[in-house]
Amino acid sequence: MAALTRFTKPSSLSLSNISRAFYFYSSSSADVAHHNPHPQIHHLTRKDPKDRNVQWVFLGCPGVGKGTYASRLSKFLGVPHIATGDLVREELASSGPMSHQLAEIVNQGKLVSDEIIFNLLSKRLEAGEAKGESGFILDGFPRTVKQAEILEGVADIDLVVNLKLREDVLLEKCLGRRMCSQCGGNFNVASINVKGENGNPAISMAPLLPPSHCMSKLITRADDTEEVVKARLRVYNEKSRPVEDFYRGQGKLLEFDLPGGIPESWPKLLEALNLDDYEEKQSAAA
Ligand code: ADP
Repeated sequence: MAALTRFTKPSSLSLSNISRAFYFYSSSSADVAHHNPHPQIHHLTRKDPKDRNVQWVFLGCPGVGKGTYASRLSKFLGVPHIATGDLVREELASSGPMSHQLAEIVNQGKLVSDEIIFNLLSKRLEAGEAKGESGFILDGFPRTVKQAEILEGVADIDLVVNLKLREDVLLEKCLGRRMCSQCGGNFNVASINVKGENGNPAISMAPLLPPSHCMSKLITRADDTEEVVKARLRVYNEKSRPVEDFYRGQGKLLEFDLPGGIPESWPKLLEALNLDDYEEKQSAAA
């Protein structure tokens, strides 16, 4: 706590210079956690998303569908979807100076250093700011309590959605994941049908097949092998579960158990977010 009296947060810090915040907080080692000692249950108000600056985070294990639902919501609400996993993969594909080092880390299912993540995120946020973007849905970030604490110093996160699915289904989903190397579309060839057991409900998910013109261009992520997915699940449990507790303690965590595939889950997610009547209101206002 002594560090807090010696260092004051630079007033110019905003989300787009999150990497400066990272250097600032790392060097001052200030305690930036803002744990609410009296957590309250978060109630989502039926507020028009246009009237709120959406600053949301999607949490959840590998394969749960963070990318799918965060990207759908970002289109629905007109705010950018920023996935640090995508930023890392873009850097890998660019064959830049960091790509060799990054490939080794990512392909073992380990976390990339905070320094690299904050640099990639800063660049993405600056580019967005220049285009006039406001608000965001973050996916894959924060992944550690330290990342959450630094984000806390520069943003005003108002909702954290925690997507949940049984671990055996997560593995099947990751192994079935495919991407079109040309259009970048995400698909899944797994047909999931697991029985309910040990208190877990049965779950079915139809495959999300690509159109015929993508069929011959499908690729699999190098980190979607059984061994690496299991390593990523272990890393999630060790490093990212505490992030759920961090936001739960602030009353910002919305727990969402996926009931099935997109057709079953999407309407239920909109309902949980109190956005189920948003589309109707928008078309009525048009
Ligand atoms: P997942 O499907 O496991 O949720 P992502 O696409 O979000 O995967 O991320 C892929 C990889 O990129 C991770 O396994 C990790 O190596 C790296 N990565 C992404 N986001 C972060 C982050 N916030 N901190 C550290 N590493 C990250």
